[in-house]
Amino acid sequence: MYEKETEQLQKIVDDSRRIVFFGGAGVSTESGIPDFRSADGIYHQHYRYSPEEVVSHTFFLNHTEAFYEFYKEKMMILDAKPNAAHRKLAELEQAGKLTAVVTQNIDGLHQAAGSKCVYELHGSIHRNYCMDCGKFYSAEYVKGSAGIPRCECGGIIKPDVVLYEEGLDSGTISGAVRAISEADTLIIGGTSLVVYPAAGFIDYFRGKHLVVINKSETGRTVRAELTIAAPIGEILGRLEVR
Ligand SMILES: [Zn+2]
Repeated sequence: MYEKETEQLQKIVDDSRRIVFFGGAGVSTESGIPDFRSADGIYHQHYRYSPEEVVSHTFFLNHTEAFYEFYKEKMMILDAKPNAAHRKLAELEQAGKLTAVVTQNIDGLHQAAGSKCVYELHGSIHRNYCMDCGKFYSAEYVKGSAGIPRCECGGIIKPDVVLYEEGLDSGTISGAVRAISEADTLIIGGTSLVVYPAAGFIDYFRGKHLVVINKSETGRTVRAELTIAAPIGEILGRLEVR
């Protein structure tokens, strides 16, 4: 399956020198990280609040312990490994064909695969800071702490992830916008493009080739040259870097 599409994508990649990859939750689901928004039956039996409610700034401040219960279990999947998509994107960067990865994911798997230029629009579970003194803590420390993770100074540790009601980091935004606006090819993968403001980034693309690879249909109409309805790792994994 997908031979024709893969061949078309290979031609586009061969023709490109400044690829930017824009990825969403679908890139990580193939590494076993579930999209926390995909509320399932088990979720509703266990938690009283919706995922969006829990992962909000207000909820973090008012129900810190419940926030961490959900966050540690559903969003900190620390044993996840990069998949074929992460590895191929790192390989393309190393070969000088890809300039940046822009991601909505917070799991750090692009860096784990070797990617250097990664704009993490929603932050990272691997960066955690004391709200009082600013001391840094690892994801392992946060996940392993009982209840609310606390600093040695007694302050509460907050993950450097963008919660609902919080703004995106301006440096990350400008870097991502610059990379996308200078790209000759933009590959959008594993996202339904419904999460704003991240979805608005696509409008900055002025290059030649726009490709969308996503298992399900995208949430907004994109004037893509090539659309592949398939798992992202399966498609990218087949690309030859030359
Ligand atoms: Zn502290």
